Amino acid sequence: MTDAYIFAEELFKIYKTEDLEVVALRGLDLRVAPGEMMAIVGASGSGKSTFLNILAGLDTPSAGRISVGDRDLLRMSDDDLVDYRRREVGFIWQQTGRNLIPYLSAQQNIEAPMILEGVKRKTAKNRARELLEAVGLGDKHKRKPNELSGGEQQRVAIGVALANQPPLLLADEPTGELDSATADEVFEVLRKINRNTGVTVVIVTHDREITSRVDRVVAMRDGRASTELIRNSSVIGKDFSVDELAVVDRSGRLQIPREYLQDIGIDRRARIEIDGQSVKITGE
Ligand code: ADP
Ligand code: MG
Repeated sequence: MTDAYIFAEELFKIYKTEDLEVVALRGLDLRVAPGEMMAIVGASGSGKSTFLNILAGLDTPSAGRISVGDRDLLRMSDDDLVDYRRREVGFIWQQTGRNLIPYLSAQQNIEAPMILEGVKRKTAKNRARELLEAVGLGDKHKRKPNELSGGEQQRVAIGVALANQPPLLLADEPTGELDSATADEVFEVLRKINRNTGVTVVIVTHDREITSRVDRVVAMRDGRASTELIRNSSVIGKDFSVDELAVVDRSGRLQIPREYLQDIGIDRRARIEIDGQSVKITGE
């Protein structure tokens, strides 16, 4: 995909502490098309937040290639990075409290980033109203965060993230503190906005139900992309199906979705016999 909007290749992130090095990303390859809505899933510690923070311009990779639009995130000056964070990305955190200013109303929260960017008050007000409508909270614009439910707060947070019309929206476990029905409402709002505005959306989540809301799910394991679930676009609506694909990782190992292996009773290690086109896998 040469027209990728997000392009990551052989991406490494090594955290060095006094006596130890943690390799959080080890050769991550990922491409995201403009306007795509995709999810990254994976066990805790697999490098999801590290990758999202790099995409957000909050952290810098140690090696590899990463670009967003025409910006090379490895070669940006500090000024460029500040500009990138302001214009290119909107970010939604898991902790609802981190996204909103507690003493401002929903509307004022969404206006705030625009006013900081020098947008006229009247324009900011109108756009905040539009965004509140888009996230389904038009009638609650006066409420303060503590007068809104967790799901409503996250929907306001989506409005805040989109206030300055960034082309990229990132969310790190935005529904981690919500029950599944409320989580689905948040995903639905993100989906609608993605469809209506063409904003590219990358969501890190534990929520398996996300598969019905996104174009693609990439699973990360040990700092790399391991398997991909691709929505079958020929099936629309609730009866979607997903194809989970086995992929060959950078070190030449075949990664097979765990569920498939569990179905045939394989826990960890397996033997593979290749006979012409057929492959037989047996537990060891
Ligand atoms: P995830 O979001 O998938 O749970 P993270 O990206 O937060 O994973 O972490 C990946 C690995 O990097 C983990 O082993 C974690 O402990 C380590 N790590 C993350 N941030 C830091 C940091 N600032 N300093 C040292 N190690 C870190
Ligand atoms: Mg994380």
